Amino acid sequence: MAWAEYLRKKETEFIEDLIDFVSIPSISAMDEHFEDVVKAGEWVVERLKRAGIENARVMETETHPVVYADWLHAGEDKPTIMIYGHFDVQPADPYDLWDTPPFEPQIRDGKVFGRGASDDKGNMLAPILAIEAMLQTRGTLPVNIKLFYEGQEEIGSPTLAPFIREHAKLLSADMIFSSDGGQFSEDQPQLIQGLKGLVGCELTVQGPDADKHSGKHGGGIANPIHALSLIIASMKDDEGHITIDGFYDDVIDLSIEDRAAFARVPFDEAAYIAQQGVTDTFGEPEYTTLERLWGRPTLELNGIWGGYQGKGTKTVLPSIAQAKITCRLVADQNPDQIFEHIKAHIERHTPKGVRVDVEKMAASAQPFLSPAGHNASEIAGRVLTEVYGTAPHYVRIGGSIPVMSMLLDTLGVHATVFAFGLDDENIHAPNEFFRLSSFQKSQIAYCKLLEEFGK
Ligand SMILES: [Zn+2]
Repeated sequence: MAWAEYLRKKETEFIEDLIDFVSIPSISAMDEHFEDVVKAGEWVVERLKRAGIENARVMETETHPVVYADWLHAGEDKPTIMIYGHFDVQPADPYDLWDTPPFEPQIRDGKVFGRGASDDKGNMLAPILAIEAMLQTRGTLPVNIKLFYEGQEEIGSPTLAPFIREHAKLLSADMIFSSDGGQFSEDQPQLIQGLKGLVGCELTVQGPDADKHSGKHGGGIANPIHALSLIIASMKDDEGHITIDGFYDDVIDLSIEDRAAFARVPFDEAAYIAQQGVTDTFGEPEYTTLERLWGRPTLELNGIWGGYQGKGTKTVLPSIAQAKITCRLVADQNPDQIFEHIKAHIERHTPKGVRVDVEKMAASAQPFLSPAGHNASEIAGRVLTEVYGTAPHYVRIGGSIPVMSMLLDTLGVHATVFAFGLDDENIHAPNEFFRLSSFQKSQIAYCKLLEEFGK
């Protein structure tokens, strides 16, 4: 374990590296900081080279750059693992809510404060330092390594997918670990097994060509708000089951093992209810709340409008009524197919006398689920158990991490989040910080992760 000594010896130096890195205001959302994003990419390249990693370079995309580097001398019989992360950051305003300036990082109470300290600079730097420790102490690595860092994550990676497709051979890997994300708590690790996908639509119910007098035409023609209400009501039963034909067809149901893993994660139902300010939970009664949150698809009305909404009364029979609907999907639901099912359902349930138009929302995402027995996830689980002294919680997320789906679509690999941020670290908010203890833990964990492949 010579690398452990190396990490200890370099501790102060590595913290200084992190401070240096965080002080670059690489805000991808702001045009005036474009050069800083490039500068951060160049900083990463320099640091990779110093670590002894080869072929490090900034590569252009159609927008913000990416960084690639590799070390491929472990032999063809060894797997190639890719480590992903991002060197761009969120904007830092409002600046006056920061206790110390966001791009003049400072250490207080064992934490580095600064924009990007946790998301994702501290997390993405750790594997580079781990690789350096191994290369410096044994001159070799147990696996072939590729590092791939992007400068456009915080603006939704607009040109990353075409870049990956174009460079699919360069980026091909047996396993991918993402350094963007976090752990369950300071002493409880987690592994993310699943993420939800997304699809949505806007529904317009058209009645008469203009608002009509309800005394003159009420009883004569259909009211589009009533029609819309009927359509919406037909989509779910009283218990919250979605009643759209085909909606659940491709859902991979939760296995006994999945349900047992969920049940091991502490979830305080009463506290959850109190936190949301509701009187009770609601949804498919044959599943627990956590199972519904993590493992079941949903259909939600996001907005509904139509008719007169001003003060007092207006005896109007409105011309149109509209609603926005989104669904969070689970594996193996397909967003396009689900949209078709919704559209067909709406058309079937449209009452006489109105017309409907269903428009698909531009953004959609594929659901993500690590296959059972996924090798990278198993190895990560072993390492986390060793580092934390306790087995990880196997969790899922109700939202999506678009890059995970992107890596699956473009490279065909289920990435595993292997990162060490914590929920309270104010990412995307003032006073973002990263714990120095997590910074060290992540370096050790990455060394052990690589070592695990050499066994
Ligand atoms: Zn991030």
